[in-house]
Amino acid sequence: MTTVDLRSDTVTQPTAAMRAAMLAAPLGDDVFGDDPSVNALQDALAERLGFAAALFMPTGTQSNLCALMSHCQRGDEYIVGQFAHTYRWEGGGAAVLGSIQPQPLNHQTDGSLLLADIAANIKPDDAHFARSRLLTLENTIGGKVLPLSYLAQASTLALQHGLARHLDGARLFNAAVAGAGAAGGDAYAAARAITAHFDSVSVCFSKGLGAPVGSVLCGSVDFIQRAHRWRKMLGGGMRQAGVLAAAAHYALDHQVARLADDHALAQRLAAGLQGLVGVTVEAPQTNIVFVDLSPEVAGDKAKGLMDHLKSRGVLATGLYRLRFVTHLDVDTAGVDRAAAAMREYFS
Ligand SMILES: *Cc1c(COP(=O)(O)O)cnc(C)c1O
Repeated sequence: MTTVDLRSDTVTQPTAAMRAAMLAAPLGDDVFGDDPSVNALQDALAERLGFAAALFMPTGTQSNLCALMSHCQRGDEYIVGQFAHTYRWEGGGAAVLGSIQPQPLNHQTDGSLLLADIAANIKPDDAHFARSRLLTLENTIGGKVLPLSYLAQASTLALQHGLARHLDGARLFNAAVAGAGAAGGDAYAAARAITAHFDSVSVCFSKGLGAPVGSVLCGSVDFIQRAHRWRKMLGGGMRQAGVLAAAAHYALDHQVARLADDHALAQRLAAGLQGLVGVTVEAPQTNIVFVDLSPEVAGDKAKGLMDHLKSRGVLATGLYRLRFVTHLDVDTAGVDRAAAAMREYFS
């Protein structure tokens, strides 16, 4: 039986063309700065997102950590969402390794942080308080796209208070492709419309873009120099990394616009899950479908669900709040199988 793996968009296998690009990549020693494939990727992403410099990183976690440590000093704080990856899912690295205090805020239902909450949590310059230094947002967040008007307002607020602005854009291109209509269908222009509101952005290539490994951090030349020092210290200085950068570069050139297919499959899955008793489907904006089970079905019935799905060749995550993520290796038949397995279980 074939399996459709909807646990995450990180599970994709590199395509044959991507593997060919990896094999053909010219390589050097990136710690000496002379891996041409790494340099080409960094230059391409910086240029396409409107930044002066960029740095290839092994993971998004390290990329965000280097960003936070490059924006903030010991005793500074960053304002961040309660469910943001940089706060909740990175092992507390900013605090542990950077001596940077998080100021987490609750999210609104659209994933944003209320501007009034941000303003109220920027501390005055007083020895009692950590120094408020940075605002960190995430887009997409939980599969939701932050509105451009919101990004503009949050950015203005940050600048008024002297805060730097970092975007965890692990899924930046999902947000860009979802909003590309307003940018004349140009996903890169749509991405720039987002990144224009930030001093730095981290983009994952190992999510929906479909590369096996890697993230890229973008920012000013000074900022990237500081991040480069932290990356070395954190053990992220890689040698013939061009073999990985070539995969990411292939994804950047060939697998951005196709994210629209993943979004369409998420819509199809959500539609296929409508009308089940005790099951509430959140309308997906990009490639993630969240499904909440009501308390009546959430008990024992929920506990057997993942095994049932697995027996039908469907992998997902969650217990009472299920998560189905579409990606490069999912097709129409796969999402239809997932919907059918859910219908079978809840009918
Ligand atoms: C996946 C992800 C990251 C980085 O994760 P790594 O597994 O370290 O590459 C960062 N932020 C968000 C929002 C993510 O989804």
